[in-house]
Amino acid sequence: MERKDFIRLLGLGALSSIAMDTRSITSELLSMPDSEEMPILFVGHGNPMNAIEDNVYSKMWKKLGTKLPTPKAILVVSAHWETKGTQVLVSEKPRTIHDFGGFPRKLFEQQYPAPGAPAFAKETAKLMLPTKVAEDLTWGLDHGTWSVLLPMYPEAKIPVYQLSLDYTQGAAYHYKIASQLSKLRKKGVLIVGSGNVVHNLGRVQWGKQGGYDWAVEFDTKVKNYIDTENHQALVDYTKIGNSANLSIPSNEHYLPLLYVLANRKKGEKPLYFNDTLEMGSISMRSVIFGAKDLKLDK
Ligand code: ZN
Repeated sequence: MERKDFIRLLGLGALSSIAMDTRSITSELLSMPDSEEMPILFVGHGNPMNAIEDNVYSKMWKKLGTKLPTPKAILVVSAHWETKGTQVLVSEKPRTIHDFGGFPRKLFEQQYPAPGAPAFAKETAKLMLPTKVAEDLTWGLDHGTWSVLLPMYPEAKIPVYQLSLDYTQGAAYHYKIASQLSKLRKKGVLIVGSGNVVHNLGRVQWGKQGGYDWAVEFDTKVKNYIDTENHQALVDYTKIGNSANLSIPSNEHYLPLLYVLANRKKGEKPLYFNDTLEMGSISMRSVIFGAKDLKLDK
């Protein structure tokens, strides 16, 4: 739906009452006492069919949903929402976006009717000042978000919002602005980055198990840098060389990892899951920080 149609649908009166409501809720959020720090999560989402297939990836997402502390809201930075300048989704009822082609009808029929989180979204924009984050009512939940959340939280009761990736900016910028989100962890928000560490669709070989040598090499380097808390090397990933060039032909699937790492507290140990490669050039490596006592058996 176009923005103008959406505004027409709501009517101006409805829009202003939403603005009033969220303004008062926002100030409440700011003064809310801190809760226990939420974990942060990077998910390799891979094939959209993972949303409806009962496979090793979706099984793990389902398990996470039952084991993590229940968030007040979920903020997803998805590879599939790129904009000029950063935007935040302030919809009360975000639509489910089927942003892919050539998949079975069953996938297109899926809906993820989670409520939005406009108050948290507006607070998020404030946290990111002086970077101006534009409020958006036209996007929704893209498949980077709902394909993971559908198995993870199938009831779709937890409010969800998204932050876009500014495609005009480099990795260092993303890492820097992402670090301003850390306060959200204490307000009950689960920050999720959704992408893939290695993502080269041009090299995908359907049916191939595991990854090409260069994909395994880059994936392992990323793991080692995460293990040693060398985030700078991950921001400067282009310096890693050929394995990085092949693994990241365009960086929208990699950047969500930086949004998660930027909110990692010093000393927080990584817990990896779904750490396999498939189709040669996709890494499903996922990692969680700050989930106390969480055990994820393979
Ligand atoms: Zn994707």
